[in-house]
Amino acid sequence: MNIIVAIDGPAGSGKGTLAKALSQKLNLVNIDTGATYRCVALKILREKVDINEKEKIIDLAKNISINLLTDGTVLMDGEDVTKEIRSKEVTSIVSPISSIVEVREILVNIQRKIAEGKDVVMEGRDITTVVFPNAPYKFYLDASIEARAKRRYKENQEKGIDMTYEEVYENIKARDYNDMHKEVGSLTRTDDQIYIDTTNLTVEDEVAIIEKVIKGDRNEENDR
Ligand code: C5P
Repeated sequence: MNIIVAIDGPAGSGKGTLAKALSQKLNLVNIDTGATYRCVALKILREKVDINEKEKIIDLAKNISINLLTDGTVLMDGEDVTKEIRSKEVTSIVSPISSIVEVREILVNIQRKIAEGKDVVMEGRDITTVVFPNAPYKFYLDASIEARAKRRYKENQEKGIDMTYEEVYENIKARDYNDMHKEVGSLTRTDDQIYIDTTNLTVEDEVAIIEKVIKGDRNEENDR
């Protein structure tokens, strides 16, 4: 059976950084599901589709090709869009786009296909509940909104993304609300996730927590 480490949590909770570190430490393929929603949002912007034109958006999602390479490169219809999908414009429309149930169905299928037959760490909003509800390892990452906004602002600065701290804060707040109130695939806390508050933790701390859970499990299996 393949290893699936499923991580959900709000924007800026550290899922991306943690997933990357875990993938390197435990030799897992890292799958950033947010990137798939960002590709659809980017295509909508490029093709100048109004965000209220649901049927056109569904059609566009049906015909999109998305590839997530192991080095983190994101390919949309064969083009490298790794940087462009992080733009302010994409970030501002991605959450409402991801509320369209039919778009979610299409992208969840793509995400499952990418993971097929591989040992993966997968992060997003609905991995533990919809994409892989039977994953053996489920985590929910969280942090205060201030800590998350500060982190994202710093990351954006490093990547050359032009957003003020206030813009980042307001965007995260709006996405939190929208992501937690979706008809399907909403960000939810469940009893079978391990909750990690990352506000005062380093990535190394987080990796150690997850490694302990996975290794503890394996040792138990060996003891049986
Ligand atoms: O993770 P990231 O912030 O890049 O995700 C962008 C947006 O995509 C989120 O705000 C959320 O609305 C949506 N998303 C989702 N389900 C996922 C991953 C992301 O709805 N599994």
